[in-house]
Formats: sequence, structure tokens, C-alpha cells
Amino acid sequence: MDETQCIVCGTKAAPAPLYRGIVRCPTCGYVSADMRLTDEELFALYNEQFFTGAEFSDYAADERFFRKNFRLRFRELKKFIAPARHRHLLEIGSAYGFFLDEVRQEFASVEGIDITDAGVAHARARFNLNVVQADFLAHDYGAQKFDVVCLWDTIEHLRAPHLYLEKIAAHTERGALLTITTGDVASLNARLRGKQWRMIHPPTHLHYFAPETLARLLERYGFEVIYNRYCGFYRSLGNVAYNIFVLRWQRPGFFRQLERTGLTKFGFYLNLYDIMYVIARRR
Ligand SMILES: [Zn+2]
Repeated sequence: MDETQCIVCGTKAAPAPLYRGIVRCPTCGYVSADMRLTDEELFALYNEQFFTGAEFSDYAADERFFRKNFRLRFRELKKFIAPARHRHLLEIGSAYGFFLDEVRQEFASVEGIDITDAGVAHARARFNLNVVQADFLAHDYGAQKFDVVCLWDTIEHLRAPHLYLEKIAAHTERGALLTITTGDVASLNARLRGKQWRMIHPPTHLHYFAPETLARLLERYGFEVIYNRYCGFYRSLGNVAYNIFVLRWQRPGFFRQLERTGLTKFGFYLNLYDIMYVIARRR
């Protein structure tokens, strides 16, 4: 496959503009950032809304909520896990290691890979996890095989997700499980919000899958979708307030005032029915 082809359906037909810097395949409907643009060009199209481009900065402080979310995800995943078959787990984009730490007792081994210094250092120092700091595509796993591979809120960030799937396929065998959470661009909320949908922010998010396009891409690399549901999230008020006051409105003073009240430490559960949780099985 060359760079002019759609990664989902393989057509060479030129993608059609959807929003600024966002295009849609005329053949299969797959939506992505316009990959002919650089990260800098994509950022320039959207940066009036995103003052730093950064997501909520205090990840470690949100640990409690991340762990609750991971417990929810794992409760569903566990229904498909056969302990004798699914022994070795890899998380791609393991961040601070909260998921791996949550599930380590359930597997013979768990390991992670992440490109960030802070995440990898935290996962190692605090949880003594086996986590490498590298790009998954560049890291040599030799003949290693995994039984469960997890990408939580990660696939939308990748420049070439199809190459990740190709490599995951090379390091899994029949019956292995692959989990993905990502936004659903065909969801009602995404369609109502249009280019204002909170998931539309290139170059941080480059891919906007829908159930059909993600299933089709997974099929290409030998993975059959066996589960696809909308999932909700626990969020701290701090995380939400940061996104609104600091990133959208550029009013960090409001955010700091709210922080002083202590309210930002509280959390709530929200399901907007626009984040899909997909579990696929290797054929
Ligand atoms: Zn296509």
C-alpha cells in the first residue's frame, strides 16, 4: 500500500474535504486529518481553540478516575479472557502505568510501551512495571508473542495506525484479543457537533473512525470485531474545567479560582455515546 491509498479500503480516489484540515474517503467514508499537511499546518488550523495544544496537565492527580475507567474497561474485557489462553498482555500507549498496575494480577506478564518520558519514568519508579520508552513501530520485539494487546485512547493519535495493526498481527496468534477505545465520528453527538465535536483536534487526533471503518481496517489485518459498545468515563471536575476554562476560553484565572475551592477534585460519570470500545479477536 502506498501513501496515496486509503488505509481502510485501499482506494486511490482523492479524499474529499469535510472540515478544515479534515478529509473523508469518497469510497468507504473513513475520516482523517489531511495527511498531506504537516503537524504544524494542522495545528495552525485549530489552535485558536487550543491555547497550549496540551490535554489536562495533571494526569497523576487524576489517577483515581483513570483507575475507575480502567476497571470498567477490564470488567468487559474479562468476559472474553480465558486465563489459560490469555497470559501475556501488552499495552501500547501505557502512559503512567495505571492500567497495567490495575490488571497485573490477572496475567502471567504485563508490559507497556510509551513514547513519553514522564509516563515511562512514573510506571517504572512507582509500579516497577516492565515498560519501554520507544515508538512501537521502531521497537524490536524479536519473536515475542502477546495474547492481549490494548490501545486505550491511542489509535486516534497515530500517524500510521495500519502499520501498528500489521505489527500487532505479527506478534499475536489466532485467538489473541485486541482492545481499542476511540471516538465514533458517526455517532449522533459527533454529527450534531460537526467540526466543534470535542474529539476533532488535529494534530493531536489524526483519525476519526466509525464502527464500519474501524472494523474494516481491523479485518484487513486479521482481526474480527467481537464487541463494540459506547463507553462512559469518570472525569474529575478539574479535568473538565481545565478543558473549558484554560484550553477553550483561555481563562486560566477562572480555573485557578475553581481549584482553590477544592471542587476540581470531585468527579462524575459521563457517557455521551460517542466513544466506542472495540474488542477484536485474531483470526
Ligand atoms: Zn476508503
